[in-house]
Amino acid sequence: MSDCLFCKIIKGEIPSTKVYEDELVYAFKDINPIAPVHVLIIPKQHISMLWDVNEENSAVISHIYEVAGKIAKELGLENGFRVATNCGEDAGQTVFHIHFHLIGGRKLGWEEQ
Ligand code: AMP
Ligand code: ZN
Repeated sequence: MSDCLFCKIIKGEIPSTKVYEDELVYAFKDINPIAPVHVLIIPKQHISMLWDVNEENSAVISHIYEVAGKIAKELGLENGFRVATNCGEDAGQTVFHIHFHLIGGRKLGWEEQ
């Protein structure tokens, strides 16, 4: 997707602070963090939103959860962390390349953001 912000970040056309990368996923610091640790984990393949996850592309989603645990450990989030995906308008999705917010480093309330 040539006009997708996160596809451009993956290609290095827009700068980002990389936290992790492998052949399937890219993880980088959120530009507007809501917690001491706020990382976005995205598949390199363009998937717009959770509605578009299906049996053909869902393997990358389970991989993202594996990666999330590894990143959380590396960043010292032994006390816990959250992985969240906003899908659609009511949830406040603003970038339509599916992404997983990994947030931690403080006590997290349930009803926030
Ligand atoms: P969402 O509201 O779930 O779609 O989340 C989009 C996230 O992308 C927000 O937390 C933004 O702060 C973040 N974001 C937007 N542009 C950038 C960027 N250029 N680099 C890093 N994070 C970004
Ligand atoms: Zn994209």
